[in-house]
Amino acid sequence: MIASGTDLLPRMRKRQIAPSVLLDISSFTEDLRYIRQTDGVVRLGALTTVTDLLESPVFHANLSIIREAAELFGAPQVRNVATVGGNVCSAASSEDLIPVFMALDASVKLISAKGERALPLKDFIVGKRETALGPSEILSEVSFAAPGGHSWTAYEKLGRRNMLIISIVNEALSLTLEDDLRTIGSARFALNRVSGRIPALAVRTNEFLGGRKLSEETIGQAQKVLASELSLTSDFRGSGSYRTEIAQAFLKRLLQRCSRMLGGAS
Ligand SMILES: Cc1cc2nc3c(=O)[nH]c(=O)nc-3n(C[C@H](O)[C@H](O)[C@H](O)COP(=O)(O)OP(=O)(O)OC[C@H]3O[C@@H](n4cnc5c(N)ncnc54)[C@H](O)[C@@H]3O)c2cc1C
Repeated sequence: MIASGTDLLPRMRKRQIAPSVLLDISSFTEDLRYIRQTDGVVRLGALTTVTDLLESPVFHANLSIIREAAELFGAPQVRNVATVGGNVCSAASSEDLIPVFMALDASVKLISAKGERALPLKDFIVGKRETALGPSEILSEVSFAAPGGHSWTAYEKLGRRNMLIISIVNEALSLTLEDDLRTIGSARFALNRVSGRIPALAVRTNEFLGGRKLSEETIGQAQKVLASELSLTSDFRGSGSYRTEIAQAFLKRLLQRCSRMLGGAS
């Protein structure tokens, strides 16, 4: 399948893959290019572009995580064509939108001539560049519940330049505070560059944070849980230990940013 080809074509040119046939889905925009918010659920058609995300009024306030990720995505030429579906289906550990959608607990809709099925995104990505997509399926939609009251989301990305940033680490957080604005109701923190080159949720860190007071002490402990839970990839862009230090620093920054926006103590 080829949507806009910004992931696929460079890989074909480098001879990493050599499909004998390409099925071009880029003209199905009437059915697959939309951003809808109804009954508290946000739905993104697979052919929605990154520029569409940037131009949408939906991604402000506690959904500004999408805008933040879109702003740091590639360059205008890439953003104008790169699609949400292509990002998710590439299942690469450098992708910006996957950790964001994981933090938002997104699901994907897969359609085929036989019908449709929905899967949580965390179960859709099964390995490095591997998804649960069946041979005759197309990903048609990514959807997630819009964060409710006392919820905020934030995104951080580290690369070596300010444009066309290939991430060394990127991280996304969706945080909900209890009514006292001091206790964490739930935290969903996701990051890329996890060993095995996959994006993933930091499950134990998220469990640790739930129900605790949002304080410097909790943040310090959560940073330790994160380091013990996940090992990050080592490659020419950064060692695993460097990435872990950045991941810990970003976790702190994200928790503090969300807390500040919610008016909580940290
Ligand atoms: C210069 C440059 C800069 C980039 N910068 C970034 C960046 O900052 N952040 C980032 O995350 N990515 C970046 N990318 C990677 C790429 O742009 C993104 O992954 C993009 O979202 C891919 O979308 P696409 O429509 O081009 O997908 P394609 O290249 O068309 O497809 C990608 C993969 O998904 C499959 N696929 C596509 N759509 C569907 C569908 N609906 N159903 C099932 N399978 C599907 C294809 O078969 C293929 O395997 C960059 C690429 C380039 C060339």
